[in-house]
Amino acid sequence: MASSTHSKLPANQYDFVFVSGGTAGLVVACRLSENPEFQVLVLEAGNNHLDNARINIPAGWSAVLGSNIDWAFETSPQECVLLLAVLILLAFS
Ligand SMILES: Cc1cc2nc3c(=O)[nH]c(=O)nc-3n(C[C@H](O)[C@H](O)[C@H](O)COP(=O)(O)OP(=O)(O)OC[C@H]3O[C@@H](n4cnc5c(N)ncnc54)[C@H](O)[C@@H]3O)c2cc1C
Repeated sequence: MASSTHSKLPANQYDFVFVSGGTAGLVVACRLSENPEFQVLVLEAGNNHLDNARINIPAGWSAVLGSNIDWAFETSPQECVLLLAVLILLAFS
């Protein structure tokens, strides 16, 4: 899939628009884009970190916590974990 900034989008109409270029979104978008009849747009908020070792090497996952590629989302307090909020590790793809 080609990537562009919003001012240089290759088309102005799309059959499918994905808000997020994460693992799930990209798999489905990639498969759909194999059909030349479909115009597929993926809107991703993060930058491209595909060559980032903290992403590519599974053992490096803990280095992502609290880093500049961590969205730092957390849940509301959870009854089943003593009313603690749970960190959601969601890295920018
Ligand atoms: C460091 C790390 C290592 C991991 N290693 C493994 C592993 O070895 N094996 C394994 O099975 N799983 C692993 N995981 C878990 C796996 O990456 C996740 O389960 C999977 O990526 C979740 O897919 P997803 O599509 O739901 O979300 P994500 O892949 O997290 O995608 C969500 C995307 O949405 C984007 N986004 C957020 N807000 C917006 C917005 N407002 N607009 C547009 N885009 C937005 C984010 O930037 C992100 O790219 C790892 C996770 C991390 C963080």
